[in-house]
Parts: sequence; structure tokens; C-alpha cells
Amino acid sequence: MRHVIALDVGGTGMKAALVGADGELLHRARRPTGRERGPDAVVENILDFAAELRAHGVRAHGEAASAAGVAVPGIVDEAEGVAAYAANLGWRDVPLRALLAERLGGVPVALGHDVRTGGLAEGRVGAGRGADRFLFVPLGTGIAGAIGIAGRVESGAHGFAGEIGHVVVRPGGTECPCGQRGCLERYASASAVSRAWAEVSGDPDADAADCAAAVVSGDERAVRVWRDAVDALADGLVTALTLLDPRTLIIGGGLAEAGETLFTPLREAVRRRVTFQKLPSLVPAALGDTAGCLGAGLLAWDLIETTDLAEVTT
Ligand SMILES: [Zn+2]
Repeated sequence: MRHVIALDVGGTGMKAALVGADGELLHRARRPTGRERGPDAVVENILDFAAELRAHGVRAHGEAASAAGVAVPGIVDEAEGVAAYAANLGWRDVPLRALLAERLGGVPVALGHDVRTGGLAEGRVGAGRGADRFLFVPLGTGIAGAIGIAGRVESGAHGFAGEIGHVVVRPGGTECPCGQRGCLERYASASAVSRAWAEVSGDPDADAADCAAAVVSGDERAVRVWRDAVDALADGLVTALTLLDPRTLIIGGGLAEAGETLFTPLREAVRRRVTFQKLPSLVPAALGDTAGCLGAGLLAWDLIETTDLAEVTT
């Protein structure tokens, strides 16, 4: 049975799957990246893991995987298949596509940025299913974005497209590690809300989920912290939708787990700000932490389609 290898490489762990032609998950596996042993060890672990998945395919489905898709963090040159930079893995210019292709018997390999790959899955088979234009924005430790256009995710000329977390929403505001001040993710990421609520509540262990719970119970201080985050987020999102005119705006990550506590005021805040722009539907992400792996599978299947087409036309 024809299938592909899908691999989602995070900072500490890797998720993998064998995926069939209709997106069915034939096999799933996880393992640590082993980053404590250094950047080269992580690469070795990925190659070994991929080889084992290939062998599993041969045993269980009678043939080796026809392609592989891999999602990695940091800055990714998708055209060249190089993981350009990943601070949490200590990577610089790792030619992962070539290394994997060699290890997997020369099959085509697609390399994708983790958020863009997860966004691809959310747009095609998750919360944005069927949307021709979407924007996926996960609110986690930071804030990133994936711009979906006609079934693909735009990576930009240098692999930086979609970095909505570093759109300045409060000029001259809080310093950001990126070198600017007042970036969106300083105000509206799950980490930013956790920091703000820990300070206001006086509990150093309080986090964004605690803040959301305090909002529901009517705590005035929490309501203020939450409103500041929602306002900053709405400012950033309106900038994005003015530029991109998406049909669907998919919000994910830890902060989105607050559900309607976030979505009701956020829809209202966005609606208040737009004048001529068309309002997209604003929906929670649907795939959770499986988005990266599912997206990696889609990248691999897209590659097979392209390869098959090339064979037909030559
Ligand atoms: Zn920044």
C-alpha cells in the first residue's frame, strides 16, 4: 500500500506517522530528539527514526514509503531543503532534505517550517477545511503565523513570511528579543499573558489559563489583563487581514484553549476595528498538536503528486 513518512520535529520530542493516500494514519510513533547530546545527535536521531519508519512500512504495508515530509522549528529554507537556524536544537544550515533522501533510498523529501506545516494541515483538513485563503495564528510561547493561499502556505522570499508575532502593535513598547519594541507577541502570546497575570495577581506560578479562569469568575484585575491582550491581538490581526484578506482566521496555541473566553471578545474587538475590510470567520484551531505531523504528511503527498505529474508530462 502506497504511503508516506510524516515527521514533526519539536524542541524536545519528535512525532511521526505513516500516512496513506487519503490522509489515514497507518502508524504513529514518538521519541525524544536527544538534544542534550548536541545538534549532530539530533540529526542522527531523525535519520535513524526515519529509517525505522521506512522499515516498518516495508514490513506492515509491503512497500517502502514513497516520500517523506518533515516539519522543523526555526528558520527553514524550504526551497533548498535546509534547516537554516533552530535555536532550540542548536542547528545552523543543516541540509536535512539531502540527508533524509540519502537515508530513505532516494525518495523525494519535503522540508517545512513547523508553524507553516501545521497551518497547511489546519487550512486543508482542520479548522479551515476548504478555505482558499486563510491565516493560521498560534498563540503559544511566542506568536507565529501561516499564510494560506490556494491550498499552499506562503513562505516568503527568505523563509520569514507570516511572522505576525513581530508586527509592532505598541510602538516604543516592551523590548522583544527580535530587536524591536512593542511586538505583538510581547502582549498577546500565552507566555505574555502568563507573565502579566503572575505580576498582577502576585502569584509567580499563575499562568494564562489561570488568568482565563479568573476572567470567567469576574476578577476585575484579570479582566484588565485579558482585555489588554485581546486589544493587542486585535490590532495585530486587523493589520494582517487588511493586507491578506483571508476567508478564515484560525487561532490556535495555548491561549486559544480559553475557548469563548478568548473568541467572543476577540471577534468583537476585530469587528470594532475594521472599516472597509471584510470580516473573516474567526475560528479555533481543530488539530491540536497533531497539526505538524498531519501537515508533514500533506507536504509529502504534494511532492508525490508533483513527481507523478512530471513523469506523465515527460
Ligand atoms: Zn519581536
